[in-house]
Amino acid sequence: MNPIQHFHRRSIDDRDAFWTAESAAIHWHKPFEQVLDFSKPPFAKWFVGGETNLCFNAVDRWVDSRGGERALIWVSTEVDQEIIYTYRDLYREVNTVAAMLASQGVGRGDRVLIYMPMIPEAVFTMLACARLGAVHSVVFGGFASVNLAQRIDDAQPKVIVTADAGSRAGKVTPYKPLLDKAIALSTQPPAQVIIVDRGLYAFEPVVGRDLDYRELHHTHDKAEIAPVWLESSAPSYILYTSGTTGKPKGVQRDTGGYAVALASSMKGVFNGKAGETFLCTSDIGWVVGHSYIVYGPLIGGQATILYEGTPIRPDGGILWSLVERFSVNTMFSAPTAIRVLKKQDPALLKKYDLSSLRSLYLAGEPLDEPTAEWIAAGLGKPIIDNYWQTETGWTILAAQPGVADVATKFGSPSFPVYGFDVRVIDEQTGEDLGPNQKGVVAIAPPLPPGAMSTIWGDDERFVETYFNSIPNRQVYSTFDWGLFDEDGYFFILGRTDDVINVAGHRLGTREIEESINNHPSVAECAVVGIADQLKGQVAVAFAVLKDPRVLDEPGADLKLEGAIMKIVDEQLGAVARPARVRFVTTLPKTRSGKVLRRAIVAVCEGRDPGDLTTIEDPSALEQIKDSL
Ligand code: AMP
Repeated sequence: MNPIQHFHRRSIDDRDAFWTAESAAIHWHKPFEQVLDFSKPPFAKWFVGGETNLCFNAVDRWVDSRGGERALIWVSTEVDQEIIYTYRDLYREVNTVAAMLASQGVGRGDRVLIYMPMIPEAVFTMLACARLGAVHSVVFGGFASVNLAQRIDDAQPKVIVTADAGSRAGKVTPYKPLLDKAIALSTQPPAQVIIVDRGLYAFEPVVGRDLDYRELHHTHDKAEIAPVWLESSAPSYILYTSGTTGKPKGVQRDTGGYAVALASSMKGVFNGKAGETFLCTSDIGWVVGHSYIVYGPLIGGQATILYEGTPIRPDGGILWSLVERFSVNTMFSAPTAIRVLKKQDPALLKKYDLSSLRSLYLAGEPLDEPTAEWIAAGLGKPIIDNYWQTETGWTILAAQPGVADVATKFGSPSFPVYGFDVRVIDEQTGEDLGPNQKGVVAIAPPLPPGAMSTIWGDDERFVETYFNSIPNRQVYSTFDWGLFDEDGYFFILGRTDDVINVAGHRLGTREIEESINNHPSVAECAVVGIADQLKGQVAVAFAVLKDPRVLDEPGADLKLEGAIMKIVDEQLGAVARPARVRFVTTLPKTRSGKVLRRAIVAVCEGRDPGDLTTIEDPSALEQIKDSL
């Protein structure tokens, strides 16, 4: 056993003592009475009876000792602006926004939906919710109205906080009309909408509903709002994620367990300490943004950089220039961003002083070896591939330089992180597999602190979805295939379900199919994820038309393809748009009527489709091939 594996073993075998020690990394208003209540498996309640507050741990705790130090650095290459907030500034802003929300009746347990671009107000609002004991639900800015309406109805927020618009690569996306449409579609509209007017998009406020952020800010400028102490298991936030069905799952996170997990990971996984600077290029709409743009670095007393912009504007050196200017110690990004940078001038990697940078963490999708090698050589720094999910809230697998220095292997996100009892399981028998055997990557419960506590409002679905998919035992399925080698290094080998990963964004193929089926000409369709050099995967759709004669006119197929793409854009957003829509008269299915997605993917990627004994009509696969 290497020292990381040894540390990990202790977290499982001597769980209570291990997490009692880790829990000292945060402030508890009231100490907990029990480390773990696992009396109703698979539900795990961590630090029972303890009271704490995420905002206090992220902000107040540092005001005395490092009030004048940088807490939040906002850089926007979209609107060419930059603001640095010290911990004291952040404290002021968060108190003001908490007072603004409280003035609209927001209190303990109420939901606030945040639909915002990467601007400081979004971070203030998240922290203000935490301060009030309210539950935030951040929805990725620019998400389509239908998506947004589903999330509004599920979370039933009292207030929505938004902005007039976001901007990406210099192109403005107005958020306000998307939100108005979502509210019109929703059955649970919020009472109030607070809008940050950035002056990017002119709009008419809805009288009686829409409030101006700056006006409210002015009214509550000097407010002080005491943090609301929450029992450790009280929900801190909901974050929706895609699965195999059309209905998104609201991943619910607790308070105390999350705070401890993040504080602990800042040391163990990221090897950092208070006073350092963290750059995470994710978005606050994703789990990585929640954990390592907002809460993790601040709970760890670090400065965090909130970057609004792309990695290649004004040029491909922008991220490295941030590292130099702000002396970034830890950087966290996604393989897709690195693949984009790979197309830029390699000299940009050498143009800046990167001496402050310890390592680059990459997560969200498989890190292919050529990309890993390219960036490792270019930076001359360790590249740490780490594997996790929205559900787990922090890292399941990673090298953990704060625990011990152990060599990494290309293609492997290394070892289980302490607290995660990771197994590779035979999906037929439910038995544990040994080294070099491919199976489902699973986690034996209890899930560690910081992982999801349930699906918002649906305990049954939580158990059904995650814990009942493997026969003969109750384990959490990640729905990823994987294996570990003889040295214990893990390798992730792709999803077991119909979820695809486009440029680090997780999409259910079912969601895309459901949206395409809305087109009046479409009878049925199949969407698959096809390997793509840049984005990892792209969606490709095969549609069967109700009446194929609509394609008789010249150019009709292109027109219909465009119309279908537009529907997906409107309902799910541009990330979900299929790269191609092809028309066939039948889909390859098994005799029991299940679409043979894996065979379609193989044909599209030019591989052998494998065993086709169950196929109903082999000519259907020929059609797929011909249509490409
Ligand atoms: P999300 O919840 O959107 O973060 O997506 C989680 C999924 O992304 C995982 O179940 C994996 O399929 C994939 N994923 C995340 N990190 C990695 C990684 N380092 N290597 C391979 N796949 C990853």
